[in-house]
Amino acid sequence: MNANKNIAIDVNLATVQFRILAATRQAGRALDAVGLIAVSKHQGAPALRAAYAAGQRAFGESYVQEALDKQAQLNDLAIEWHFIGRIQANKTRPIAAEFDWVHGLADPGHARRLSEQRPAGRPPLKVCVQVNTSGEASKGGVAPEAVADLLAVCASLSGLRVMGLMTLPVPDADPHRRREPLRALRLLRDRLTTPEQPLNCLSMGMSDDLEAAVLEGATLVRIGTAIFGARPYNRDLALAGFPSGIGL
Ligand SMILES: *Cc1c(COP(=O)(O)O)cnc(C)c1O
Repeated sequence: MNANKNIAIDVNLATVQFRILAATRQAGRALDAVGLIAVSKHQGAPALRAAYAAGQRAFGESYVQEALDKQAQLNDLAIEWHFIGRIQANKTRPIAAEFDWVHGLADPGHARRLSEQRPAGRPPLKVCVQVNTSGEASKGGVAPEAVADLLAVCASLSGLRVMGLMTLPVPDADPHRRREPLRALRLLRDRLTTPEQPLNCLSMGMSDDLEAAVLEGATLVRIGTAIFGARPYNRDLALAGFPSGIGL
């Protein structure tokens, strides 16, 4: 890892923090209302180490094996690990064991497995239910009408702690249309939140829609490219309409 790349990561991180702060102020929200997850999928352990040295503590990973490899290399750091990828039933055990948060929960069976497999002695796994706010099949997540049922399942599981809702953006050149799913997630949260189960967390906003997400109420933004630079080209995503470099 050359030193220049580390310097770029630390400047990029400060730039992202500034963008979050500016949008938070523009939205009239409390200046500490929005947390930052550095999305480090496809980045090597030295890149995470550089971001950590610059003060970053929460990191998001999408691929279980890749994440486990990096966790082994970074076990001297007090990182908060967020699993933000698609959950596969045969991978729930390492997710339950090695992560602090899961963002893409969309299946009651996965919820039960994660709860059962959460090691005793660790605090409950923090989860966000992924909502398909755009109606696009490729986006994953549960339909808005099904969210209440999945939340009820999660609330009954002692190994999980429900934090809120998460969504993925729709690729759309029109900034106004890109805001609609973000707003839909917030409105759904407002409707479903109760004193017994407050949905405090809105996990939304990536490098390209960070400001829109903060204006619509995001409490956790998941930022990769703007911190670490472009990832390798991903054919599946290109087919789904994302620009190259997103590499989900
Ligand atoms: C990759 C990824 C991100 C970060 O995307 P960038 O455009 O690189 O900021 C955020 N959320 C999820 C679920 C991702 O897979």
